[in-house]
Amino acid sequence: MLGQMMTQPLLISSLISHAERYHNDTEIVSVNAMDGTEVTTWGQVARNARKLGSALGKLGLEPQARCATIAWNNRRHLEIYYGTSGSDLVCHTVNPRLFPEQLVYIFNHAEDRVLFIDRTFLPLVAKLRDQLPELQHVILMGPRDDEAAAQVEGLLFYDEFIETGDADFAWPELDENTASSLCYTSGTTGHPKGVLYSHRSTVLHAFASNTPDCIGYSAKDIVLPVVPMFHVNAWGAVYACAMSGARMVLPGQDLHGEALVKLIDTWKVTLAMGVPTIWLGLLGYAEQAGSQLTSLKRTVVGGSACPPSMITEFRETYGVDTIHAWGMSEMSPLGSVNQPLAKHLDLPLEEQYRLRENQGRPPFGVDLKVVDDAGNELPRDGQATGELHVSGHWVLDSYFRKTREETLTNGWFDTGDVASLDPDGYLTIRDRSKDIIKSGGEWISSVELENIAIGHPKLADAAVVGVHHDKWDERPILVAVKAQGESPGEDELRSYYEDKIAHWQIPDRVVFVDALPRNATGKVLKRDLRAQFNDILSETV
Ligand code: AMP
Repeated sequence: MLGQMMTQPLLISSLISHAERYHNDTEIVSVNAMDGTEVTTWGQVARNARKLGSALGKLGLEPQARCATIAWNNRRHLEIYYGTSGSDLVCHTVNPRLFPEQLVYIFNHAEDRVLFIDRTFLPLVAKLRDQLPELQHVILMGPRDDEAAAQVEGLLFYDEFIETGDADFAWPELDENTASSLCYTSGTTGHPKGVLYSHRSTVLHAFASNTPDCIGYSAKDIVLPVVPMFHVNAWGAVYACAMSGARMVLPGQDLHGEALVKLIDTWKVTLAMGVPTIWLGLLGYAEQAGSQLTSLKRTVVGGSACPPSMITEFRETYGVDTIHAWGMSEMSPLGSVNQPLAKHLDLPLEEQYRLRENQGRPPFGVDLKVVDDAGNELPRDGQATGELHVSGHWVLDSYFRKTREETLTNGWFDTGDVASLDPDGYLTIRDRSKDIIKSGGEWISSVELENIAIGHPKLADAAVVGVHHDKWDERPILVAVKAQGESPGEDELRSYYEDKIAHWQIPDRVVFVDALPRNATGKVLKRDLRAQFNDILSETV
């Protein structure tokens, strides 16, 4: 042998051990469900996580047993992430906004043995408990609470439970390909599907997230993950922040504009991430309250297309750089991030701004391609549009309890998104394949029409769907929510499109609703809108 480098497994426990050793005093602010706002440290989180790992070990669970959480973003949830995965258990975060039948399906499909809950979800769990035969322990994330104990038989209390663990517990050395966490996708059809992440995929994803042209969390940042920890592990922030030693502000349950603006201003948050609807609320409140969001430098927006008007408002009013990112549960979730290249920096500002609107480029570790119906790769010319396929170190190989053959297409994962790639690899998501509007043989991107509508000052929210048309098969209609105190007319909104897109793409009708229907992760339920309005154009023909 000529020589060799060390080989160490890429383990989630190594992230928290690093944070404990090198960022021991670094603050974690947590808005808790039961006991208010607290300030703790990475060191304390790490010590509690080890005690939890040890306490769970004493329950006699089998290796890889699933431990579910229904919880907000808070300190105990963070400890559970590390305490479970680190001790060879699988952290299964569950989205509380799912329907009760979906929750029962997910718990039973995952065969969860332990369930950690925030106090908020006690009534829900009390109601479902009898339908979860595999579940052995329910642990309330807080101190002892006799009133709660009366509602769920055998209820344990987190603060007492971790005291049954040993403070000098050492994390076991696992194979890096061991499963670490589980997250179900909230698809709009069929049963939710489980995505099982591994230690290796999670650590590699964190490395990539921390590169400067990705998100680049830093020990100098104060990070507010508004994206819930039950939505693809808060986009991996929980791991990337331990790796970089970033300070975190965990916002708890209240994600309204007012609460978020106060958190940003009080704790001097520099970087925040979440879905576009969250930022709509935040920008609305900041304007009303006169906050300048002085500390905030960057927002990461993803989960749905980020309207260009939002990027402009953040930049021009608050001096905040909005980083548009795309991904999905099946990709841990990071697929692409919009950051400029060196050659862009000399372009006129307007041109630079326009380039920041699309979904960005993949970091090393993810590969993207766009294919036609026959699976042939399409040119990367910024024009050719087809199905987006992905592969990479943190991309799913097979769904939980499904085979590779059932999951992949020729070794690639078909995202279900319709997109184009330009010669530099910048991705533009045109639509979900089931949402793209097919009008007389031409495709219309509902995302593009929505982005324009959301920029109209008299609208608070907007969605575009294709509905039946006798001549053109499908035509777009705009489903709009009026901004408070405004009453825009249909013609006014339709003519707003005139110099922005081809005339034939302008929505045929505008209908107003009080609110858009959304699924558990905040995405608009376009299927419901199509069902509701499918005949609207036929009726008027
Ligand atoms: P989920 O697995 O619930 O996170 O959903 C993933 C899907 O959300 C993707 O396949 C896209 O359709 C959509 N999505 C996520 N980020 C974006 C984005 N920046 N722009 C457009 N669509 C997005």
